[in-house]
Amino acid sequence: MSNKENKKEESELMEKIVSLCKRRGFIFPGSEIYGGFAGTWDYGHFGNEILNNIKNSWWEKFVSNREDMYGIRAAILMRQEVWQATGHAEHFADPMVECEKCQHRFRIDQIEDKNNCADCGGKLGEARQFNMMFQTKVGASEDSSAISYLRPETAQGIFVNFKNIVDTHHPKIPFGIAQIGKAFRNEITPRDFIFRSREFEQMEIEYFVRENNWENAFNELKNEMHLWMSSVGIDMNKVHELEVVSEDLAHYSKRTVDFEFDYPFGRKELFGLAYRGDFDLKIHKLEYVDEENSEKITPHVIEPSFGVERALLAILLSAYTEDEMGGEVRIYLKLRPQIAPVLCAVSPLLKNKPELVSKSREVFSMLKKEFGRVAWDDNGNIGKRYRRQDEIGTPWCIVIDFDTLGENPELLDTVTIRDRDTGNQERIKISELISYIKNKLN
Ligand code: ATP
Repeated sequence: MSNKENKKEESELMEKIVSLCKRRGFIFPGSEIYGGFAGTWDYGHFGNEILNNIKNSWWEKFVSNREDMYGIRAAILMRQEVWQATGHAEHFADPMVECEKCQHRFRIDQIEDKNNCADCGGKLGEARQFNMMFQTKVGASEDSSAISYLRPETAQGIFVNFKNIVDTHHPKIPFGIAQIGKAFRNEITPRDFIFRSREFEQMEIEYFVRENNWENAFNELKNEMHLWMSSVGIDMNKVHELEVVSEDLAHYSKRTVDFEFDYPFGRKELFGLAYRGDFDLKIHKLEYVDEENSEKITPHVIEPSFGVERALLAILLSAYTEDEMGGEVRIYLKLRPQIAPVLCAVSPLLKNKPELVSKSREVFSMLKKEFGRVAWDDNGNIGKRYRRQDEIGTPWCIVIDFDTLGENPELLDTVTIRDRDTGNQERIKISELISYIKNKLN
């Protein structure tokens, strides 16, 4: 396939994903009925379910299943002194140019023609630094002491709580503090669907180590990041590690690895892993005292940083599949059961037969109570229901038919369960449904 054809196919794939997300209630443009609001997205029921599944899977792996992690939830609004200490107030900026004719603004490192406007051809002005933090005023006072910022990263919420965690939990080094939460950046050009938004969510860990142990911890966490990406269904053939070269490293970092993903709009950062030295704890004047020998140290830090929306987009792109079934093109999301918004759908073969409906409601209630993410679907014919569930990635569809009710006595109290990927159906006992699904989940 030529490069041009490949590009076309990739951009069509992106359009298909955006349209599926809208059509099936995953993701909508923010403030849509007022014309949209660039860089913001609203999540519908299915989108929100997937986001929760992604975050829960991350939390389970990196916090609940480990003994050395502490999970917190810090405030989004923080004192301006935090951002002055870190340098964000002065330096958290991207280079921006403005068109002298149409006043459109661009991030200079994101445009090919640095002299002329991509929108109207007008002349681009001088590049200047544009601070990406959203400033706000807190309280009734209007003076500069009221200035605060919506946090541009969750990491600092962790550092400013370092002492609280140490004083209340007395962790032995090495240990980590983790947080999932919103971050805000006034991106000059939000673009590529949810990839570059102005409001997004991060899942971050600050892992505190002794300086001489940083490489071990770095490699261990890098490995864990790989395992997690693959467990949520990110296509690992499209993930590439980029060693950030020394001249691009932050001044305090000895090593940073960006995990990049082959998005349809190019190979771009998915997640990052940075060795931050003792930079953050030093600027906040924080120390750790080893309780065994009273030794005082400033721990060094390894920071795995994940964007929730970038994960979601990579998962959707990895899962999107078209094939042919029954002589028709079928679209389906090959999502991992742990991540799919709906785990299984329950249907009566015919919705106008009360005896089928009442048995189906029984099966539905049983599964709903067990798994939560279970849908009731009695709309249209069975074929249409399957297609609808395929499109949102539901791994299993369960149908209650006349055999379930004993038309064929040998099949009494059995149902059909259809596999999304193969379209194959099996007949199993209602009493075995829960363990059947649980086995597949493990
Ligand atoms: P980029 O170079 O793409 O702007 P970055 O290097 O500034 O990203 P970090 O500061 O390392 O990003 O942020 C950590 C993670 O937060 C990123 O790996 C990404 O997953 C996510 N992230 C950063 N900016 C955005 C954004 N504007 N929209 C969505 N996710 C983001």
